Amino acid sequence: MKKLFHVHTFRCGHAEEVPDEEYIKRAIELGAEGIWFTDHAPFPGDPFGNRMLYAELPEYIDTLQALKEKYRQQLEVHIGLETEYFPTFDKAGYYRELRENPGLEFLILGQHMAEDVPGRYTYSWDRERLKAEEYLALGAAILQGMESGYFEVVAHPDRIYRRRKGWDDAMAQMAERIIAAAKKYDLPMELNEASRQRKNQYWEEFWNLAQGRVKMVRGLDAHSLEELKIL
Ligand SMILES: [Zn+2]
Ligand SMILES: [Zn+2]
Repeated sequence: MKKLFHVHTFRCGHAEEVPDEEYIKRAIELGAEGIWFTDHAPFPGDPFGNRMLYAELPEYIDTLQALKEKYRQQLEVHIGLETEYFPTFDKAGYYRELRENPGLEFLILGQHMAEDVPGRYTYSWDRERLKAEEYLALGAAILQGMESGYFEVVAHPDRIYRRRKGWDDAMAQMAERIIAAAKKYDLPMELNEASRQRKNQYWEEFWNLAQGRVKMVRGLDAHSLEELKIL
């Protein structure tokens, strides 16, 4: 099946300013059979940037549901969100709330930052610490997120190493833990097209370890019409 998986919308504030319908029209032009929208999930109280406001979530869902209905004969439109796993929001019941939202079909785990102690996040760390330890915190959060059972796909797991310059044994150990968990929970891991285009975000070493052991899915991480393509 020709799938367009992992597509963002203008609501996140760092994607092309076009209506969602334009992505669907382009998808049809490309001959896709399905498109999976996964914009960045908001959180109650709007504590994080680079995503829609919490109050905008109903409009995101309503708009995509109307388009799903309108284009039903031409392609499948799937409505999901990409989100980090944060223990504090899990305890507060937020992931459960998202999973119980009848308008949302699925969540993907995209761990762009981590909550290292309750209420504190890795973006508050200094550069040296991020370089040395960010991948350990992101990896630990991915492991917790996989175990939580809320997610269908692990987005760009190898992006945790984005601040690393070369592969080493400690990085391989974290990779092994993530791969083992993906196998245990039968969760596909995403080969991310946007990561491939950027320095230090796509790690062959990681995928060589994963090869043949876990399910993989290819994702676009599209933030513009131009980035929609059949892989
Ligand atoms: Zn984004
Ligand atoms: Zn994404």
